[in-house]
Amino acid sequence: MSVVAANVESVAEGARILQNGGLVAFPTETVYGLGGDATDGKAVARIFAAKGRPSFNPLIVHVAERGWVAKLADTDARFEKLSAAFWPGPLTLVLRRSKNCPASELVSAGLDTIALRMPDHKVAQDLLRAVGRPLAAPSANASGTVSPTLAKHVDSSLGAKVDLVIDGGACRVGLESTVLDLSEEVATILRPGAITAEQIAAVIGPVKISHEDPAAPKSPGQLASHYAPALPLRLNTTQATVGEALLGFGPGAATLNLSQTGDLVEAAANLFAMLRTLDDASKFKAIAVAPIPSTGIGIAINDRLARAAAPRG
Ligand code: AMP
Ligand code: MG
Repeated sequence: MSVVAANVESVAEGARILQNGGLVAFPTETVYGLGGDATDGKAVARIFAAKGRPSFNPLIVHVAERGWVAKLADTDARFEKLSAAFWPGPLTLVLRRSKNCPASELVSAGLDTIALRMPDHKVAQDLLRAVGRPLAAPSANASGTVSPTLAKHVDSSLGAKVDLVIDGGACRVGLESTVLDLSEEVATILRPGAITAEQIAAVIGPVKISHEDPAAPKSPGQLASHYAPALPLRLNTTQATVGEALLGFGPGAATLNLSQTGDLVEAAANLFAMLRTLDDASKFKAIAVAPIPSTGIGIAINDRLARAAAPRG
């Protein structure tokens, strides 16, 4: 990996890497983000692989302009008011994905919502405009380590897993964005951050504050209810029985194949979309899933499959 100073050339170079599915760390006003093309499932899977998370949680998708949001999500009056008041800035808004949302399903970790933010940093905005696509960008650090506010933190935490680090100096806020869920009738703060509940309430009225673990909010904690296909799952099998769909991995016949070549990054990119496609009671009575190696991003894939296969309450 190389660390390069932010300028016209390095931003153009970063945009080229991102358009080709690579990963670029860039400064925002909150912390350094590990960016990948949000519309490219494999790029998003590479982000999870680079961070070494043992499970999938949804990522924040960054936009350069408010106009980009209409394609990605369904908006309402609260969104209009809040984005007018706080964007660009450290407020992430969770909305329902639009019908033909071009963002990968992995970026939402299979949820029907998407978290959006417009960063208040010239380098981030220039990069987004140069790429011309929304960028998924969680904090650019290995899972479980401190968020990076300097380019050298990214370098020491992620090293060669990032294709390029654009150095824009220290992050001004140094604290993660506030995450506000607007996908339900009651607006709920899922993660406290730089924009306070009072500031939000002044614009849209009272908000609820979620007291779930901020590291595992509405997303992973509620997986059982949110992510599980309706059909039962049977794991670690290469043989479907009558009426079962087979979700394959590696060479061999299957109803759908996560990756013919046994590529775990490709499998992660396909996981949620394929589960949704097979989850069709008019065609199948259950989904059989091939064994997935528990290495690298395979750990997160197996975590998700195990949750989806767990008995329902
Ligand atoms: P980070 O990966 O550090 O940028 O953190 C992203 C935060 O946004 C995490 O707390 C996520 O769980 C939260 N988040 C992202 N997308 C969603 C979503 N669709 N629904 C709920 N929370 C989300
Ligand atoms: Mg983080």
